[in-house]
Amino acid sequence: MQSKLPVKKTVTFADTSEIQGAVSNTTIPYDYLVFAVGAEVQTFNIPGVREHACFMKELEDAEKMQRHFMDCMESAAFPGQSTEEVKRLLHMVVVGGGPTGVELSGELHDFLEEDLRSWYPELAEHVRITLVEALPNVLPSFSKQLIDYTESTFKEAKIDILTKTMVKEIKEKSVVLQMPDKSIVEVPCGLVVWAAGNTLRKVTRDLMGQFPKAQENRRGITVDECLRMAGTDGSIFAVGDCTATSYAPTAQVASQEGAYLARLLGQIAKRDELEQRVEALAAAPDVDKQELEQSQKRLTKLNKLRPFKYSHQGSLAYIGSDKAIADFPLFNGNLATGGVATFLFWRSAYLSTLFSMRNRTLVATDWLKVKFFGRDVSRE
Ligand SMILES: Cc1cc2nc3c(=O)[nH]c(=O)nc-3n(C[C@H](O)[C@H](O)[C@H](O)COP(=O)(O)OP(=O)(O)OC[C@H]3O[C@@H](n4cnc5c(N)ncnc54)[C@H](O)[C@@H]3O)c2cc1C
Repeated sequence: MQSKLPVKKTVTFADTSEIQGAVSNTTIPYDYLVFAVGAEVQTFNIPGVREHACFMKELEDAEKMQRHFMDCMESAAFPGQSTEEVKRLLHMVVVGGGPTGVELSGELHDFLEEDLRSWYPELAEHVRITLVEALPNVLPSFSKQLIDYTESTFKEAKIDILTKTMVKEIKEKSVVLQMPDKSIVEVPCGLVVWAAGNTLRKVTRDLMGQFPKAQENRRGITVDECLRMAGTDGSIFAVGDCTATSYAPTAQVASQEGAYLARLLGQIAKRDELEQRVEALAAAPDVDKQELEQSQKRLTKLNKLRPFKYSHQGSLAYIGSDKAIADFPLFNGNLATGGVATFLFWRSAYLSTLFSMRNRTLVATDWLKVKFFGRDVSRE
């Protein structure tokens, strides 16, 4: 018989901050658990990725990358540096041609053009950005014309795209590539940013391990149409990047799942309360048959849980040089658009989906600050 664990229904939390109070570990019971721990970076066990590449997943990854990037610029500007070493330090390699890798390449290009070119004019001509992708093209989830548009925009921006190219190893000062003709090439570089995909966190694998028969998908947690974790008694829900569904691992999916689950849990709370009421009514010595019947009818309704339905609002990506691309579902077809107007739309869509007026104001102010005063590269 299929396991219906976990039996204890508790979650243990640990305070992992540097400064801890007297209590740093606690266990609390739950009736329903929503599991939404996201994912972590997939390195495919390629040698040197963890040691030498920067990631682009968490906030601290971005901060580390920015520090490393500025170190490369400053070391290249160090008096007496050979031209060869300057070129190595200023070669930035981005691995992964999905939206993250493409947006990052575009942003690096903007950073160089809009800020660094005026600070380090003598270095600007040596800066190179290379985007490496194992598949035949970048942005596989976008339509063909947007892929072509991105590739031509990158060409104009002098961002090299290497498709059908696999990273075999990352060393301290170079990246080893397997080219489309299977030859192995070692390319000197100053910075490698790894944006090649996600994998499950250990805490997710551990949870899945408790339901080995129902949780066999290596991509993530299998859920039913109401986002309940398969194999459980229905008390554990899973949403977002830690799940394996037919949807892409995006914030658009995760936020719709979150909103759906909030409504569903409201319904479940009402259902559970009514269930107790019905039990009490039925057990009462002087049963109020009318009230019991009405409550049972309402309970039947509440027991019908509407399945989650994802509504795809479109895919957007920034590609640098004040240009963005967008794929929108339109009736039974698709509207593909790219350029400066799409970039303005991208920004307004981004702002409108941010949570709270405070966040919107902060982000909009940040964009204005960058536009008028350049990027903030202070280190502390
Ligand atoms: C650089 C980048 C750009 C992106 N751009 C877009 C975009 O433009 N549009 C889009 O739709 N999507 C985008 N995505 C994808 C999007 O960020 C994710 O799909 C989305 O954040 C998934 O939401 P989530 O809630 O599942 O996970 P997360 O947002 O990753 O949240 C999981 C949270 O759980 C916490 N956590 C993990 N383990 C534990 C634990 N053991 N205990 C307690 N807490 C834990 C984590 O710290 C994290 O805060 C981007 C992703 C990246 C990396």
